[in-house]
Amino acid sequence: MQYYSTNGKAPLATLEKAVVKGLAEDRGLYMPERIKPLPQEFFDGIQDMTLQEIAYQVANCFFGEDVDAESLRRIVYDTLSFDIPLVKVSSSGEAGKGLYSLELFHGPTLAFKDVGARFMARLLAHFSSPSQGSREGTTNVLVATSGDTGSAVANGFLGVEGIHVYVLYPKGKVSPIQECQFTTLGQNITAIEVDGVFDDCQALVKSAFMDEELNAQMRLTSANSINVARFLPQSFYYFYAYAQLKRTLSNSLDKNSLSLREGWGRSIVCCVPSGNFGNICSALFGKRMGLPISRFIAANNANDIFYKYLQTGQYNPRPSVQTIANAMDVGDPSNFARILDLYGKSHEAICRDISGATYSDEQIAETMRQCLSETGYQLDPHGACGYRALQEGLRDGEVGFFLETAHPAKFKQVVDNICGGDVAIPKRLQAFMKGTKQSIPMSKDYKEFKEYLKSQR
Ligand SMILES: *Cc1c(COP(=O)(O)O)cnc(C)c1O
Repeated sequence: MQYYSTNGKAPLATLEKAVVKGLAEDRGLYMPERIKPLPQEFFDGIQDMTLQEIAYQVANCFFGEDVDAESLRRIVYDTLSFDIPLVKVSSSGEAGKGLYSLELFHGPTLAFKDVGARFMARLLAHFSSPSQGSREGTTNVLVATSGDTGSAVANGFLGVEGIHVYVLYPKGKVSPIQECQFTTLGQNITAIEVDGVFDDCQALVKSAFMDEELNAQMRLTSANSINVARFLPQSFYYFYAYAQLKRTLSNSLDKNSLSLREGWGRSIVCCVPSGNFGNICSALFGKRMGLPISRFIAANNANDIFYKYLQTGQYNPRPSVQTIANAMDVGDPSNFARILDLYGKSHEAICRDISGATYSDEQIAETMRQCLSETGYQLDPHGACGYRALQEGLRDGEVGFFLETAHPAKFKQVVDNICGGDVAIPKRLQAFMKGTKQSIPMSKDYKEFKEYLKSQR
């Protein structure tokens, strides 16, 4: 399968090139040339399949032409070594608004980015192996993070031979618990603390990729959500959510009620807390492959650029503002270009499939408290945006799920302050906190970053 650029001015690329380059020559984002629909039989039997089985079928549509079946199966099965359960969130007694949480925090770094990062690390290692005719030398992964990307990528690649990871993060703008997950690892992971905001980190990474002189000297790879090997695998769990919902609902459905196919299949709503829009973009790919989700809600924090776009048709990027849902503090979401491309730039078509919501920190906090007291479910600040947007947006006859994108313990300080509790820290997170922080201070000046990278060769 070939990959084209959203800017339309770069040559088509192979999967390997798209993964290694990350960004196309014309600064566009790569898109697969075709989106293969899955057959009806797949959806008919999906409720009896495991996460890994479903994921392999979906992965095969995207990568089956370029990665041999055995390797692809191993990559998928290794990536998804943890569950992604769908959990009902409702108050006892309440007949139920039909609200579910897709818990994406059961991976090693407790956030959904584990899925894409682990998949990409394994795919890159596959392409870098001598059996694939790879050139010698280290592959350098550059990743800008507003919090969770860094830890997921660093852990996904930790100890992988032939690969060095540089994690760029905004000084003082990620939580201490997030920070320790990529600054304490050592080995082939280097953390770089940038005196700026997330967009500055992203700009440094983008400049490095566009720098011909630097690229002639070192093999550079992106691991941001713009990378096709990170964002496409995120579609796996939307299919798995559907499978679990189908299983749950068909068990509880009255034999005489609406038939499954015609009844609820068309009224599933999916709500995605969004920042860089990689996660929701992979869901939209899923829909193109036949996943019966009727519509999507993109939930934003105060960084409401996409929300405004839906209302006005105007896309006006702005510098990001800091919020308590900081992994969504993005002022110019990269994957917006992919959504535009997917919908032929039609604002009308985009609005048919996606609606938006935006919440202040105060509203996020209020939602976390309310959900906890009414349902007993502890949300993290990101999931809270999703929960609220779904609760407000769900119409009669619809059933919906939102993505709980991270474990509340990743934002323990904020969560405990708001909810007045003491969120238990899972063991795998405690382990990170025992390490020593090591990071390289850096200004947001590209020249300094470039000199540093050159000195590392
Ligand atoms: C990255 C992240 C998001 C935003 O996802 P995008 O794909 O950038 O839209 C939301 N919540 C958490 C916890 C995240 O880490």
